[in-house]
Amino acid sequence: MRVTHFADVLLPLPLPALFTYRVPYELDDAVAFGKRVIVPFGRSKLYSALVVRVHENAPQVTAKYILDVVDDRPVISERQFQLWQWMADYYLCTLGEVMAAALPSALKLASETKIHLHPNFSGDVSTLNPNELHIAEALTYKEIMTVDEISKAVNIQKVIPIIKSLVDKRVVVTDEEVRNPYKAKKETYVRLGDEYASEASFMALLDQLNLSTRTAGQADGLLAFIMLTKGAKGYDFSARVPKSQVVCSSALTPARLQTLLKKGFLKTEEVIMSRLTDFSSRETADNIQLSEPQQKAFQQIHEQFGQFPVVLLHGVTGSGKTEIYIKLIDEVLKQGKQVLYLLPEIALTSQIVNRLRKYFGEKVGVYHSRFNEYERVEIWNRVLEQDSDIANTSKYQLILGARSALLLPYQNLGLIIVDEEHDASYKQQDPAPRYHARDCAIVLGNMHKAKTLLGTATPSLESYYNVKQNKYGLVELMRRFAQSKLPDIWVVNMIEARKQRQVQGVFSDFLIERIGEALDKKEQVILFQNRRGYAVRMICNTCQTMPTCKYCDVTLTYHKKSRLLKCHYCGYAIDVPQVCPTCHSTDIEMKGFGTEKVEDTLAEIFPQASIARMDLDTTRSKNGYQQIISDFEQHKTDILVGTQMVTKGLDFDRVSVVGILNADALISFPDFRSFERAFQLLAQVSGRAGRKEVPGKVVIQSYQPEHPALKYVETNDFMAMYRSQIAERKEYHYPPVTRLVKITLKHPDEKVVTAAAQALAIPLREAFPGMVLGPEAPLVSRIQNYYLEDFWVKFPKDNKLEQHKKTLWQITEDFKLNKPFKSVRVVINVDA
Ligand code: ADP
Ligand code: ZN
Ligand code: ZN
Repeated sequence: MRVTHFADVLLPLPLPALFTYRVPYELDDAVAFGKRVIVPFGRSKLYSALVVRVHENAPQVTAKYILDVVDDRPVISERQFQLWQWMADYYLCTLGEVMAAALPSALKLASETKIHLHPNFSGDVSTLNPNELHIAEALTYKEIMTVDEISKAVNIQKVIPIIKSLVDKRVVVTDEEVRNPYKAKKETYVRLGDEYASEASFMALLDQLNLSTRTAGQADGLLAFIMLTKGAKGYDFSARVPKSQVVCSSALTPARLQTLLKKGFLKTEEVIMSRLTDFSSRETADNIQLSEPQQKAFQQIHEQFGQFPVVLLHGVTGSGKTEIYIKLIDEVLKQGKQVLYLLPEIALTSQIVNRLRKYFGEKVGVYHSRFNEYERVEIWNRVLEQDSDIANTSKYQLILGARSALLLPYQNLGLIIVDEEHDASYKQQDPAPRYHARDCAIVLGNMHKAKTLLGTATPSLESYYNVKQNKYGLVELMRRFAQSKLPDIWVVNMIEARKQRQVQGVFSDFLIERIGEALDKKEQVILFQNRRGYAVRMICNTCQTMPTCKYCDVTLTYHKKSRLLKCHYCGYAIDVPQVCPTCHSTDIEMKGFGTEKVEDTLAEIFPQASIARMDLDTTRSKNGYQQIISDFEQHKTDILVGTQMVTKGLDFDRVSVVGILNADALISFPDFRSFERAFQLLAQVSGRAGRKEVPGKVVIQSYQPEHPALKYVETNDFMAMYRSQIAERKEYHYPPVTRLVKITLKHPDEKVVTAAAQALAIPLREAFPGMVLGPEAPLVSRIQNYYLEDFWVKFPKDNKLEQHKKTLWQITEDFKLNKPFKSVRVVINVDA
């Protein structure tokens, strides 16, 4: 008798459980872990679901049959799935939610998925089989169809595998991809005109141009150009050089290039760059000469890895942590293992990508949320295909990514680097899974028996506490690389400055002088202001009304260029009112300073300077950051004004002055982490100054110049900051001394959410006496029309954590069954 097999599958839906289907005999060989299968679900829907277990245990209710198998090979790896499971357990969410976050949507075909013809489909149908052809034809008549509609139109029930094959052949695309289409990246190249593209004709041309003093300059220009093509085998007369690299010397000015192009001696060519451009590495890690302190740190990291799976590298800004990472990565890649290099999203600029590509070339894959679906699937596959024995040079062995890169199908990780490990953006807030990428990285590392290196100049209290608890190793690097020194820091007392009338707008005279000096010396300046927009708020001087968001409990921020008042929580915006909406007075005023106003004021004080602004408003487009950063790198801009974004791991050579315009907004934020965060942020911004030969100066403006957070930054005293904060966290039972789970209730009706909070408080307090804070409306008590109530549950760090969390989960699940509160949304955030 044949054994009947069953498969547990994961549907791409937010359902808590796995579903079990029966494997038809004819698919026995094909159904396996990690492959997608077509299953019926609900009344008439078909989904592609992921097989996560195959077994022989018949479920209680009769199982439906699997209809077909989509993939020849698994699309996920075993260890990857192990991590998903851990995340669902630890962060109290469903496996479906983890899968939804992990799987690119192109891998999630379902009945409702909309399908289009591929915009670049050539019409060549020679490779299509009859069924595929049938579908392609249907789509030429009706532009958009769901999988379901296609199935009916062509009268094939098991249509998903055919669509998948059409996707692979680039004949069709899913809707998600169309909404986020890939734009070809073009680069202009310069090469010799066809008639001159050989040594003989080129030399003849030079001779001719050199005959006259009028044209001799052009010969110089051509010579400068041909020098750029020099390689191991001498000059290359047919080479093309990126235009961005051509204008490089006094011999080849932009004007001269124009002349040479006009005369046809040179010509340009537009080249479409491949989506995932393959770069060949120009240098090897052996070329890096570590300084003595770096070398020592490097050895210590190895020693510590002998004892601990996790090591914290505490290295001051500009100490050259990246160089050390490169050496470590090199070793692991040589052992044939993969490396994951995590960065906070906005630190993932071309700066760091280029630095790594220089050494590891096409082994580097980059993955973050700004990529479209194509790019994601391509990277996914290249990470997955490690063990295929086909010699394939485009396998990614080093993945550089933001937090979601954790969820890729790694096969054999040897090392994970979590750079800027203190960064709050490693924690996902919404939607579930609300995971912390640093913590998951450590778990993933353990699953692969890989080492995890946490690097930062300002360790999180969590990580440093773990060092003190002897859970992580520690390596310190307290000197900057080469001759570079940590910057000098001044705190300017703004109360005094105002009294003395030494203030213009938000700028103290002291800061203005430092900026002026820097500009005189052709050095650059970074100014940090935590608020974007122009003014922080509009206020009526007659009745004190401040316009607020219709959907959130916050005041609107004035944006001058767009002439709008905007909500920074939900994007709601209104035109700037001419009169007060409450009392119709015309006496309205804009108060406070945002980045936009700082930029304007600065332009008045320094009319000659070129100023750029980097905040959410100026970097919305995919390459927004890159442009601003590369302009600043090339010194096209003198002053960069920005929010948090200017703090993240950037490395500029000529920044001598960093100004923090309003430190008070950071230190007076009501959150138990605000002190720590303020210290990290201020130390990180300061760290952008004086990274190379130019010495750095940092000016911090504050109305509370005596605040201890500023003192610790001023003296660069991380340990003092750590001790004072840990003492507080111990006293008030906050992480890292305890574990904190935040529960948020949301409902459009304020009365319902208040009543719900009261009701949930009872079982929570009963189960966790003395450990529950709240319910309490958060500072912003309504967002996008939902009223909020928060609870904070603190667990001691004992071995009963699992049990506590199960209890908590059960309480919230039971609570959701309460009739009057059925429509209340319950959000659980572990380690919030
Ligand atoms: P961190 O990440 O610790 O702030 P970086 O790795 O960005 O510091 O290094 C600061 C600067 O010093 C960079 O411009 C880097 O290229 C340079 N640098 C650091 N170490 C070396 C080295 N061993 N050789 C050459 N340049 C180095
Ligand atoms: Zn008014
Ligand atoms: Zn709003």
